[in-house]
Amino acid sequence: MNIPEIYGSLVFNDKVMRERLPKDVYKKLKNTIKNSRHLDIDIANIVANAMKEWAIENGATHYTHWFQPMTGITAEKHDSFINPDGNGNVVMEFSGKELVKGEPDASSFPSGGLRETYEARGYTAWDPSSYAFIKDGTLCIPTAFCSYSGESLDKKTPLLRSMDALDRQAKRVLKLFGHDDVKRVVTTVGPEQEYFLVDIDTYLKRPDLIFTGRTLFGARPPKGQELDDHYFGVLKSRVSAFMKELDEELWKLGIAAKTKHNEVAPAQHELAPVFSTTNIATDHNQLTMEMMRKIAYKHGMACLLHEKPFDGVNGSGKHNNWSLSTQAGKNLLDPGETPYENAQFLVFLTAVIKAVDDYQGLMRASVASAGNDHRLGADEAPPAIVSIFVGDELGAILDSIEKGVIYHGTEPVEMEIGASVLPKFPQDTTDRNRTSPFAFTGNRFEFRMLGSALSISGPNVVLNTAVAEALRQIADELEAADNFNDAVLKIVQRHLNHHKKIIFNGNGYSAEWEKEAEERGLLNLKSTPDALPYYVKPESIKLFTDHGVFTETELRSRYDVYLENYSKVINIEALTMVDMVKKFVLSAVSKYQRSLIDTLKEKKALWLPCDMEQELVQKIAALSDEMYVRLGKLEEAIEGEKTAGTGLDLTRYSHDVILMAMQNLRETVDELESLVATDFWPLPTYSEMLFSII
Ligand code: ADP
Ligand code: MG
Repeated sequence: MNIPEIYGSLVFNDKVMRERLPKDVYKKLKNTIKNSRHLDIDIANIVANAMKEWAIENGATHYTHWFQPMTGITAEKHDSFINPDGNGNVVMEFSGKELVKGEPDASSFPSGGLRETYEARGYTAWDPSSYAFIKDGTLCIPTAFCSYSGESLDKKTPLLRSMDALDRQAKRVLKLFGHDDVKRVVTTVGPEQEYFLVDIDTYLKRPDLIFTGRTLFGARPPKGQELDDHYFGVLKSRVSAFMKELDEELWKLGIAAKTKHNEVAPAQHELAPVFSTTNIATDHNQLTMEMMRKIAYKHGMACLLHEKPFDGVNGSGKHNNWSLSTQAGKNLLDPGETPYENAQFLVFLTAVIKAVDDYQGLMRASVASAGNDHRLGADEAPPAIVSIFVGDELGAILDSIEKGVIYHGTEPVEMEIGASVLPKFPQDTTDRNRTSPFAFTGNRFEFRMLGSALSISGPNVVLNTAVAEALRQIADELEAADNFNDAVLKIVQRHLNHHKKIIFNGNGYSAEWEKEAEERGLLNLKSTPDALPYYVKPESIKLFTDHGVFTETELRSRYDVYLENYSKVINIEALTMVDMVKKFVLSAVSKYQRSLIDTLKEKKALWLPCDMEQELVQKIAALSDEMYVRLGKLEEAIEGEKTAGTGLDLTRYSHDVILMAMQNLRETVDELESLVATDFWPLPTYSEMLFSII
């Protein structure tokens, strides 16, 4: 296969545009993309026509405005290009208007009360900064989605706004360092995606996997991940065939899938693409998840993207590698060769540290979900406490700057304060602390708290906006300063001093850290209901409105959507659990008991020893009763939802009452599973699911 040839073959990318558009149209379109402008309808008509021709040549019959509503997944409604010509024939048409704007009936997408159903209309608008592509015979046009009255209803709009906010502030700082020629600063992201693969037959026999994405029951198998024999292990041939096809399909879509390997848990894997601008990375990550599911199915497997499909082994995350760069490709978080470059690097680094500390709660809220709650704070994932890892050597450098003393590292350098402060930064010593939620890794930060199923948009909106605010404050001060070099140092020193509490280079999983973090005054928001309210704290509202990322109404509506989503997820899980116990577990357990009792009776009649049956029956009978009681409690808890209020009250209720009742019931059922003979157990076991692909 000729990879360069297939790469991007299904994308209406720059190369195709240049080939197919008249020069002046191409130029105008590029200008629109570069400067985030609106597109003239005349230009749009020409672009639409070229797109249609190209799409049809590549097998497309339909087009869709592809958008990302607040469900966190993507939405599409397909329209064919056909237009009857009145003589019984059709012509294939696609106008500029159809390219630029769509009007889907939006009433069934979550809006958090932004849009009453009688104003069901919503708009989708083309985002020319993300290329159109062909998927399953449909030309997909990446679009933003907003309400009739113009409020954003999607994940793309705020992301683009946050990128603009960051661009504005970063350019102010760069200008002060003498770079007034920088046209645009973008944020870049490389999201590493973790996932599980299980055999489709076992998957289809587990209603919990089908309805909730995770196993609600399952006794631990004798072997889990103790031997660390899966991480980077040899790929099984079925998995390898899946990965090969996935890579190829992603490449065709212009997604630079780069790295693939087995992860820590059995049946767990990872894919990492080469990074791109955040907007494109977000679109691509959505497509990657979709392709993973589809292609897994073709290979007789189900791809699980849930954060915690299996208890007792690692869950799945999505490491969000994040940096800032000029459009020319200069990474602003890359320590430079000269002290002067290093001073600039230091300002950006400090801004990130300040941003993460100032908005810890928002950062945590941005990764909060029912699924991710099982992961954050469990022993494989970063803790729920937000902290920053900078590594020992950079840590020592920051320390010396903060104290205004000379850094005695491997290469002691006379520290003259001013813009010539810093020694050459060590790159490879920012090693691999795997326990940190937010780690500096040489020329970027890795935000590790994201759950595997999450759209990366939300966390990047928060990160971009928080950093924009930190840069704004720094730029304000620097612009007003008499002596630039002195001011740089003073500002950096002051911020490092003030925000050093967020820097932690030790083991984030340890109990001591939890204690220390509390002493340092860091937030420890353990669950989604604890974290979500940070979206609507006065300082968050101010942050987002100041930078034009969300209006207060938009922010509140999102908060409502997230709260509601949490309760809905827990509700579905609870109902699935009740259903599975009633339909599968109760009857399996009683059948097994009956068989034991039959044996017991027969043995007794023959005067045979029967301690085993006696004891087992006793144990199982006791557990069955316990299960029955706990099942009743769970049903009561679900019933209680009706009077639990709305909004945060309901979310808290779901967490404190329903989830708790689910955990109790699971405990008993799992114990029963370990006692009941396999012939009687109706659900595929953990061993079957985790080790079925050979
Ligand atoms: P690791 O396992 O060490 O975390 P990976 O190779 O799995 O590393 O993933 C690293 C990710 O970071 C890749 O997606 C890579 O493209 C991305 N990355 C590298 N440089 C940058 C950058 N400047 N901005 C954003 N992401 C980056
Ligand atoms: Mg990795």
